[in-house]
Amino acid sequence: ANRKAIPEFDGAGVLADGTGIPLYSNVGNGKAALTAAENRAQGIGLFRTEFAFLNREEEPSVEEQKVEYKAVFDAFPGQHVVVRTLDAGADKPLPFLTDASEPNPALGVRGYRTDWTTPGVLKRQLEAISAAAKESSADVWVMAPMISTAPEAKDFAVMLDEVGLDVHGVMVETPSAAVTAEAILQEVDFVSMGTNDLTQYTMAADRLLGALAELNNPWQPAVLEMIRLTVEGAQRAEKSTGREKTVSVCGEAAADPALAVVLVGMGVKALSMNTRSLPAVAAVLKSVTLEQAQQIASKALGARSAEETKDVARAELPILDDLG
Ligand code: PEP
Ligand code: MG
Repeated sequence: ANRKAIPEFDGAGVLADGTGIPLYSNVGNGKAALTAAENRAQGIGLFRTEFAFLNREEEPSVEEQKVEYKAVFDAFPGQHVVVRTLDAGADKPLPFLTDASEPNPALGVRGYRTDWTTPGVLKRQLEAISAAAKESSADVWVMAPMISTAPEAKDFAVMLDEVGLDVHGVMVETPSAAVTAEAILQEVDFVSMGTNDLTQYTMAADRLLGALAELNNPWQPAVLEMIRLTVEGAQRAEKSTGREKTVSVCGEAAADPALAVVLVGMGVKALSMNTRSLPAVAAVLKSVTLEQAQQIASKALGARSAEETKDVARAELPILDDLG
C-alpha cells in the first residue's frame, strides 16, 4: 500500500461519528508538559510525580514540590491535568521512602502503600499539589497509584478532602482493583487504568523481564477481561451513585492505535500516552465510529491469545496499512 504521512495531531481526539475521546499526554516534569502542549495534547492524563524526586536522598520540601507541580499545571492553563501521587518502589526506588531489601519489590511497599510505612510524605505531597493547583488555572485531578481495595480508595479520598483537592481518583493497576471497580468507584470520581502494571500483575510476569515479554502484553485476553470488568463496574457505580464515573487508560496500551480502538469500543472514555504517539492514535480513532469500535472490541474479546486478539482487531482497521 501507499504509505501516507501521519498528520499532526490537531488537538481534538474524535471518532468518525463525532464522539469525542480526549487524548492526553503522560509526563514527568514541566519541560515534558511544554512539549505535550506544543503537540496539542488535550491535557495531561498522567503526571508521574516521582520523577521530581528521583536521585534525591531526602524528601523535597513542600515549597520545592509546589514549584515542580506548578510548572506542569502552567503548561495547560484551563485544561485537564491528572496528577499521580508518588509511585516509589520496585522499578523506581526512593532512598527516603523505600526498603531496598524487600524480596519482591513489585509486590512490596510501593505507590500508595508507602503512606503506611512512612506517614507524612503523602500528606505533604498533597499539600504541595493543592498549593500549586490554587496558583494555576489547570483543572487538577489527583489519583493514587497501586490501590488494591475500596477502603484504600476511601482513605485516599479523605486525604484529598483534607487539603481541598476535590476531584478524587485512583489507578486501576492491580487485578483486585479491577474486579472491585464498582466498590472503588463508590468512593472516588474516576479511575485511570495503568495497563503496564495491570498486565504484569494479571499475568504474574515481571514487567522488567524481557524474557517474559509475550506474557507482558496488554493484548492478552486476560488483560482485556480486567478492563472489561473495570468498565462494567464503573457503569454500575454510575447507576447506583447517579454520578459520572470516568474510566480512562494511561498505560502503554493507549499508545497502540489498534488497541486504542478496542479500548474505546469497550467503553474507555479518554486515553493518555507518550506525546509522540498522539498523531497515530488520533488518526486511527478518526477512521471508526463508536459502533464500529464496539464491534471490533467484541470480536477482539472473543479471541483466545494475545496474537489472535491483535490480528482480529488489526484486520478491521485497514488504515493501519496506510499510515507510514
Ligand atoms: C501503568 O502501570 O500502566 C502506569 C501508567 O504507571 P507506571 O508505568 O508509571 O507504573
Ligand atoms: Mg503503574
